[in-house]
Amino acid sequence: MCSFDSLGANSHNGSMAHRNIKSVIHGYSRKKEEEQTQLVAEENRLPYINLVNYPFTGDVLEVIPEPIAEELSIVAFQRLGNTIRVATPYPHNPKLPEVMNQIGAKKNVLFEPHVCSLTSITYALKQYAKLVKKTTDPTARAQQRSIEQFLKEIASLTDFATALGGVSTTQLFETILSGALAFEASDVHFEPQSGHVRIRFRVDGELLDAAKISHGEYHLLLSRVKNLSHLKLNRLIGPQDGRFSITVGEGKIDVRVNVLPATYGETIELRLLTGKDLLSIEKLGLAAETRSAIERAISRENGLIIITGPTGSGKTTTLYSVLSLLNKPDTKIITIEDPVEYKIAGIEQIEVDHASGFDFAQALRAVLRQDPDVILVGEIRDKETAEIAINASLTGHLVLSTLHTNNAAASFARLIEMGVPTYLLADAIKLIIAQRLVRRVCRNCNGSGCELCSQTGKKGRVVVSEFLEPGVEFAELIKKKATLGEFTALYKQLGYQTLTDDLTAKKQQKIVPESEELDL
Ligand SMILES: [Zn+2]
Repeated sequence: MCSFDSLGANSHNGSMAHRNIKSVIHGYSRKKEEEQTQLVAEENRLPYINLVNYPFTGDVLEVIPEPIAEELSIVAFQRLGNTIRVATPYPHNPKLPEVMNQIGAKKNVLFEPHVCSLTSITYALKQYAKLVKKTTDPTARAQQRSIEQFLKEIASLTDFATALGGVSTTQLFETILSGALAFEASDVHFEPQSGHVRIRFRVDGELLDAAKISHGEYHLLLSRVKNLSHLKLNRLIGPQDGRFSITVGEGKIDVRVNVLPATYGETIELRLLTGKDLLSIEKLGLAAETRSAIERAISRENGLIIITGPTGSGKTTTLYSVLSLLNKPDTKIITIEDPVEYKIAGIEQIEVDHASGFDFAQALRAVLRQDPDVILVGEIRDKETAEIAINASLTGHLVLSTLHTNNAAASFARLIEMGVPTYLLADAIKLIIAQRLVRRVCRNCNGSGCELCSQTGKKGRVVVSEFLEPGVEFAELIKKKATLGEFTALYKQLGYQTLTDDLTAKKQQKIVPESEELDL
């Protein structure tokens, strides 16, 4: 058996043969081509093989990955134990020995070189498409159709539904995800119905019909999603939660998965955690005064910063944006979340687990032993968590958290109501931001209606906010455990811009449509 190394050592001879095949065989009849190839094989003391109509198998063929086979004009055609027979028209290609040694070492096989004609190698290379399965790595496939490309092709959800119709079953899932990202959807819902499966995108908080697929297609897609997120394939009772990551275009997105059995089959809800707009506080549309207040608060080394608002008011997004301003190599940041929504590089993130009793308060105690500079507590829901968070903020830590109240001034009333000692409160809290999310005027048509905004004149959302930096006046009210009404009255008396004021300003600046209202 001859190895590539011995051929390489003999290469001045070989380069003649190399040129010989290349130039001479061109124009010969097929028969002459094979005869000439046999001569070259003899000259090089290598076996000859005719691979035209050879019964290739995918598992042997893929020993040499397709791009390498193409580049070096070499194919694997037969396996004998751990010996793989390979063939090339160019046995003296100087690149061959190194590449083949690498592949041989990696796959633990020896190669036995043969000489074949150009027609043979051309035939052999065509077999990859028929016999070797394309990579099943979702990363590779989603990249084929970039979001930008997708956006160019589809302007509306109707276009998307049409585009989906022309996609193969194996590409379906990636295409749906690309579509969801193109429309800046936060969630994708798959809802099996009697005749088909409905796909809906949540865009700017609203669920929109995106497309329909058949139950057959959905069956494959469901298995795929379950495999990706390590869920049980045959569980028919109860919900299942999982997550997976996928690379689309240039960015990696995390997808949180919830599968739930329903009347016509299991529904899937995908939460797309793109992290795209997340880290830019500029994009939130915070009022300039609020933004300055944030800068002041995070320039301190300790204190409590609270973001407040009802469910769906975008508190978490603002919280993370503030966090990203603090994310520097010399700052130790630990978050406690329920669940971890966005994975951020450089930050230690801990997830609470209510089932095992590892709640916010317990996690917070554990985290404090590691002495971080900044702590993010997902939400303050009870007295215990509030007290630990407040104590941490009074002992050299910057603590960020959220509360569920309607406005900034109401936060004090809420914390007093939880039973937090008043002497702690006044000193600890450095900043409270209250916020809502409202629809934004479409930037493409400035509200007149276009394809991008489905003729509504609205696209995207923006934060409407108010803030409070408590001083001595609030400290007085806290000390006497004032009522919600008293806190609110003082807030207005001090001349702060309220949520309503910010909404009015944004309407005047044509950022928010006149029709938007606040849920106060
Ligand atoms: Zn528009």
